Amino acid sequence: MEFKKAERLEHLKYDIRGPVYQKSLELESQGYKIINLNIGNPAAFGFDSPDEIVHDIIMNMRNAQGYSDSRGIFSARKAVMHYAQTKGIEEVGITDIFIGNGVSELILLSMQALLNPGDEILIPSPDYPLWTMSVSLSGGVPVHYECDEAADWNPDIQDILAKVTPRTKGIVIINPNNPTGAVYSKETLQAIAEIAETHKLIVFSDEIYDKILFDGAAHYPTATFVKETLCVSFGGLSKNYRSAGLRGGWLILSGAKQYAKSYIEGILFLASARLCPNVPTQFGIQTALGGHQSINELVMPGGRLYKQTNLIYDRLTAIDGISCVKPRGALYLFPKIDLSKFDIRNDDQFIYDMLVEQKVLMVPGNGFNYKGNDHFRIVTLPTIDEINEAIDRIEAYLNSKRRL
Ligand code: PLP
Repeated sequence: MEFKKAERLEHLKYDIRGPVYQKSLELESQGYKIINLNIGNPAAFGFDSPDEIVHDIIMNMRNAQGYSDSRGIFSARKAVMHYAQTKGIEEVGITDIFIGNGVSELILLSMQALLNPGDEILIPSPDYPLWTMSVSLSGGVPVHYECDEAADWNPDIQDILAKVTPRTKGIVIINPNNPTGAVYSKETLQAIAEIAETHKLIVFSDEIYDKILFDGAAHYPTATFVKETLCVSFGGLSKNYRSAGLRGGWLILSGAKQYAKSYIEGILFLASARLCPNVPTQFGIQTALGGHQSINELVMPGGRLYKQTNLIYDRLTAIDGISCVKPRGALYLFPKIDLSKFDIRNDDQFIYDMLVEQKVLMVPGNGFNYKGNDHFRIVTLPTIDEINEAIDRIEAYLNSKRRL
């Protein structure tokens, strides 16, 4: 007898915690120390949640014993509403905000509430793979549009246009981008908004890294460009506030909500069926958004994230055979290996060998639904010492495989 997993899971991928990650756990259980550069989890690298967030959650534990409103507690939603207003997103009311157990829950919920079998969603390639997975799991078809490395990983607008069909229901934008670190210009966002408005697509804008910006990069909320169709924006505590374990995120509805009454009903229906997001964390949201934004000190020149990002970029691009677009935001680099220079078949082999031989865990580019086989993602969170150690090992491995 065998109890089998559902067939609909058969072709789904989530490589950030996929088979190579499982292998790393096995190695750790055998006593090996692995440098984990696979996941954007700030706490694992000594970044603490701001004290005032932790304090407010603790102080409110007694008020957090019961279920809350399915959309989330009032003060949290009000704070997100004010945040939307200060970012220039118009006509966002208190019922347009849904708090979730991280953005992850809301991504899946927003797809499950929308898609019928065969409906298509345009998703960037490379992407944050939960988007692709959530569309497939919800019965939809993920259709990937290209982000062009030669154009600093900006979305290829012509490719988006070419991939719109009568079945397309929405388009996903991840800005600042995971895994490429791209931050989009006003013009790019305007162009995508126009396509969405013309073809009546819902815009899903994942902006979880909107405060992690380097060297003067500016973040423009997609929702400020979307007026004639629905825009669903996502944000949360995990990255800007280094609080991934608190599982706090939010979704903001804006734009032409009048055409989306049924879909919004669907979102509320699913949010109600899961009762509510975890309540203690919700008490930290107002404090996070309203208080001192300590993330700014980490991303400014001399700040820890700034220094680490630059160090990884400088060291990797100094290796003959590695190139990389410099990230302008978020917590990752997405470098390219020139496979003609090494005896390495593809990104999967590179990642597997780096784990087994060098005890460094990263994620292959194909794990981000990227069609090339020569990229990998590395996180910028480790300390300077860990980064230097990891890159020494990358260098040692590449030199052992270098074609003469
Ligand atoms: N969206 C993007 C682009 C991410 O990179 C991540 C996490 O890495 C998430 C969403 C999920 O975030 P959360 O911790 O809020 O579920």
